[in-house]
Amino acid sequence: MLDSLREGLQGALAKLIRSNVVDEAAIKEFVRDLQRSLIQGDVNVKMALEVTERVQRRALSEKPAGGVTRKDQMVSILYEELSRLLGGEGGLQPEKTKTSVLVMLGVQGSGKTTTTAKLARLFTKKGFRVGVVAADTFRPGAVTQLRTLCEPSGVEVYSDDREKDSVKIAKDGRKHFEGSKNLIIVDTAGRHKEEAGLLAEMKDIVQGVKPDYNILVIDGTIGQQCYNQAQAFHQASPVGGIIVTKLDGAAKGGGALAASAATGAKIFYIGTGERIDDLEEFVPTRFVGRLLGMGDLKSLLDMVQQAEVQVDEKAVQRMMSGKLTMNDLLAQFDQMKKFGSLKKVVEHIPGMAGQVNSQELDKAEGRFGVYKSIIQSMTVKERAEPDTINASRIKRIARGSGRSEKDVRELLSRYKQMKSLVKTSKGREFRQMMRRMGGQ
Ligand code: GDP
Ligand code: MG
Repeated sequence: MLDSLREGLQGALAKLIRSNVVDEAAIKEFVRDLQRSLIQGDVNVKMALEVTERVQRRALSEKPAGGVTRKDQMVSILYEELSRLLGGEGGLQPEKTKTSVLVMLGVQGSGKTTTTAKLARLFTKKGFRVGVVAADTFRPGAVTQLRTLCEPSGVEVYSDDREKDSVKIAKDGRKHFEGSKNLIIVDTAGRHKEEAGLLAEMKDIVQGVKPDYNILVIDGTIGQQCYNQAQAFHQASPVGGIIVTKLDGAAKGGGALAASAATGAKIFYIGTGERIDDLEEFVPTRFVGRLLGMGDLKSLLDMVQQAEVQVDEKAVQRMMSGKLTMNDLLAQFDQMKKFGSLKKVVEHIPGMAGQVNSQELDKAEGRFGVYKSIIQSMTVKERAEPDTINASRIKRIARGSGRSEKDVRELLSRYKQMKSLVKTSKGREFRQMMRRMGGQ
């Protein structure tokens, strides 16, 4: 889901991460890329401009905290601003000790009936006594659809075939369930020849039923229109929460951001399929994490912090002067372990996820174990001066470590590569690399 937006955002981040320095020009370019990907991902233009303006202002004025690189800081700012747009944490939390009433609002086809059944099942599982009111008097078969969807979960449905006034049914249904249920969900029609009529009917139902939550159900595939639709509903009767449906398909996902921003209401759930269990609680930070291609920011930053160690200046100087030892390599491998699996690290780096072959990572990680055992079979002198390792020593080390001579040669050539890398890299870059790896 959300492929277009995700690709755009990840591309913009990847470009930023690849850049050598994060200066004003790089920030501005990033902000332009960001704007483009938000708009292409169906985010309302006005909103996209607002978000990117905030990102730019913060990026240019805030100094990164100690130990945080400029790039990490940029990722954090973007992450925070997108999450903020989505209305922060906290979902739908009715209490079992009183009766809560939800009214499902939204245009026809947005997924109200399906979502009503999904919610009824979810809250039944959570131990609520749920009653559903079928207040769609427009669509023939609407009651049957609702009953069919609710039956497998054992949820009771209130309907009245003879009554044509949906407001009356909604009120009667509420009365019917009050006392025996602690969660009442009213499914409405949302079908009307013109929008004004639809909004007026919504208003009547809301005034008649006086629900605890006005839930706007919005189709995530309608893109930019989400913004205007959400705003129109919100003006007619204030929206208390949003459910965005159909985010399983080709939806660009910007609609979710738009609906939330237009109403200031939180998104409670997202619909991710036609099946009854395809309803996910909406957690803004998780959603943004997914968009940006990382698990979530907090776990990434935690991990970086955990592995963050003081750079040993003396060791850096020694290595920079070309005296890289096998013990230094060993320390590097151990530090990699501290990060957890390489794959996990890569998955957490924005823009990297999906770009690196996970089989190769597994292989690389497997090699660390091999190299480590080889280094452990070396003498103190061999570790300090690997260049003295000749063919007969290779043979001995291979035998001692139970590895092949080829493995030993491979390690030695890795060592040489690393050594020349150290020599050619600029001091600042090298320190940064060490710090990132947590090495010394
Ligand atoms: P209503 O007119 O607002 O009550 O909408 P319905 O609940 O009848 O849903 C309209 C169509 O959208 C139906 O075919 C549903 O199966 C489908 N639908 C609803 N939610 C989702 C969803 O999250 N994902 C997908 N793929 N389809 C959905
Ligand atoms: Mg319906």
